[in-house]
Amino acid sequence: MVSNFDKPDIRGLSLKELEDVFQAMGEKTFRSRQVFDWIYKKGAMDFDVMLNLSSTLRGKLKEKFALALPSVVSEHYSQDGTKKFLLAMFDGEKVETVLIPSKARATVCVSTQAGCKFGCKFCASGIGGWTRNLTSAEIMTEVLYAKSKSHAQPLSHIVFMGTGEPLDNYENLMKAIRLINSSDGLGIAARRITVSTCGVIPQIRKMAAEGLQIELAISLHGYNDESRKVLMPVNKKYPMNELILACREYIKATNRQITFEYILIKDVTCSPQAVRELGVLLKGMICKMNLIPYNPVSEFDHKTPTRQEMFDFQDSLQRAGIHATIRTPRGRDVAAACGQLRHDQKK
Ligand code: SAH
Repeated sequence: MVSNFDKPDIRGLSLKELEDVFQAMGEKTFRSRQVFDWIYKKGAMDFDVMLNLSSTLRGKLKEKFALALPSVVSEHYSQDGTKKFLLAMFDGEKVETVLIPSKARATVCVSTQAGCKFGCKFCASGIGGWTRNLTSAEIMTEVLYAKSKSHAQPLSHIVFMGTGEPLDNYENLMKAIRLINSSDGLGIAARRITVSTCGVIPQIRKMAAEGLQIELAISLHGYNDESRKVLMPVNKKYPMNELILACREYIKATNRQITFEYILIKDVTCSPQAVRELGVLLKGMICKMNLIPYNPVSEFDHKTPTRQEMFDFQDSLQRAGIHATIRTPRGRDVAAACGQLRHDQKK
């Protein structure tokens, strides 16, 4: 179990918070660094392995905090090396985490909520609605579990592209990001951490002011308000012009390029009109576009374009001045599309 109701999980604490706990316990604060070292550098998932702490202190920590292996409902290993884990939280909520190794790096795709409120009309995550936010400890447990399963390549990149909307769980997301980023924690550079959002504008602005160079990915999926609204109801609240403005501000504040994710749905998203309007919308912006072939979800009636249609669309975007790449689908044989495994399990 990741955590339980009566004991907080220690993976939700910042170093400063743990130091405060140690101080209140009358312990030396440097001990908290040793605990951090065990959890984040050595991957400990049990207080008993922390042998440079006295058994009395280990006992006290066990009384106060939870630290355990997550309960793993299932693991799915794809032929392309992708590993997908379905983890159960303390209340039985299931969360999916995907480890994607490539030649020189390993990326973990992390969920931030159980379910999703935003109801995009192509995504499995929103079908069953939203249950709750994940705590920062639960998010960290996903990351640490994936790290423990990443053998050939060390875990180097984190993408918040699993189930849920990261910016709708802002405080827990940021706390986890600071633990991932901090040299006391996992020490992974902010430039290697990507937050993908459906476009929650106030939180994009908030993140721009954090003073971190977090990579921002925007699920655009439309070329004007009309087309985007049909697929992404969130566009009614946060329209495109304002979204693009917030993106321009983010680029200015962080000096980072933005990635726009754009789903390829046959006869819906990849028309000549889309190319024209995207060309105007993104003119002069420091950005790239990641084209994602629609991964079929049985509840929706969409079709994936043919390979040729996808290449033609990419070509026209390039000619309109947009740097566009097509994302290679990974782990399709293990239902690695967003929210698919959790959803399939519930059916
Ligand atoms: N809520 C966040 C992160 C989760 S989704 C967001 O909206 O960005 C990660 C990416 O996968 C998003 O771009 C999402 O739109 C895309 N996605 C979801 N379902 C998909 C499907 N069936 N086929 C292709 N891409 C999908």
